[in-house]
Amino acid sequence: MTNYRDILRRLALGNEVGFRELEELVALVGDERVLDYARGLAREVRTEWFGNKVFIRGLVEISNRCSGGCYYCGLRAENCKVTRYELSDDEVMESCRVGYGLGLRSFVLQGGERKSITEQTARVVRRIKEEMPDVAVTLSLGEQSRETYECWRMAGADRYLLRHESATPEHYATLHPKRMVWEERVACLGVLAELGYQIGAGFMVGTPGQTTAMLAHEVEFLAEMAPQMVGIGPFIPQGDTPLGNMPRGSVEQTLMMLSLVRIALPKALMPSTTALATTAEQGTHLGILSGANVVMPNITPAQYRASYAIYDGKKSSGTEAAEGLEKLVGELRAIGYEATFGRGDHPDFQR
Ligand code: SAH
Repeated sequence: MTNYRDILRRLALGNEVGFRELEELVALVGDERVLDYARGLAREVRTEWFGNKVFIRGLVEISNRCSGGCYYCGLRAENCKVTRYELSDDEVMESCRVGYGLGLRSFVLQGGERKSITEQTARVVRRIKEEMPDVAVTLSLGEQSRETYECWRMAGADRYLLRHESATPEHYATLHPKRMVWEERVACLGVLAELGYQIGAGFMVGTPGQTTAMLAHEVEFLAEMAPQMVGIGPFIPQGDTPLGNMPRGSVEQTLMMLSLVRIALPKALMPSTTALATTAEQGTHLGILSGANVVMPNITPAQYRASYAIYDGKKSSGTEAAEGLEKLVGELRAIGYEATFGRGDHPDFQR
């Protein structure tokens, strides 16, 4: 029997954990005792840095236009069934103003990847920062040139989310068309870090063909890169994509991976993802109880939400504006957590 407690404690202390040991641990996902112990330790190391705080960020899905071709994502350029939209600068501003009025001080602007959005994105980031200088702005707009990332940083963007999607290049290649290259994606994260962004990496759990060895490698890879943020959620098929008939990722495996990455990166900001909330009843809570410390309610204008269909059944209501946010705060309090609306910087980036 694997001494899972010993392996997990060494992971928490930053001591050497072998790849085989990690792989054995990941494979123990069916064992309730292991999950429990991992979850408990994940909460313990998180509490040291964050107490019982959970950071709330307003998510604005600014556009679903995309030139990417990710086989899992409903926004891929090849999908002609989706109605494309793009928020105007004023609509982005209005979404943020509503969020600001509710007390939020951290906004995430996410969207499809296009090369033509450099100027307009810089413009809207500048407007947000001028009007609301006390907020943090996070962008998540895919792979871009160094010049574009630099331009957005100069405009005031603080953070950037770009999941690496898989730490295994061969697996990445089965999830993306040839025009998307693993090395280029990972290089983007390096450039973003150099430019002073707080960076967010991450991956999906249960993508077709993913093995326990690959999941073990995710832990190693993330521990080595040490990004400030990590997004982990289950793969959910989207009917109009090449992977639309594949099974979804497992909730238990997702929670296990959240706990392992939390233990390896005690200071990271890790969302309890919408994909998790979509897959499991009480998914948001389960994520928090497994080591996540961020929730990103959707503040996109309601009429656009259904079109941001990266996967089927995506939760897009329930956290709407005032009532939704109050409900979220109450639910977090009920499980012992305090929702925090501040910027929520990584401990190493606090000013
Ligand atoms: N275009 C941006 C934002 C992508 S959407 C970018 O390239 O970074 C944000 C994340 O949603 C992706 O990184 C991916 O990990 C996740 N995602 C996309 N399709 C998904 C699916 N079918 N199931 C689960 N997660 C998915």
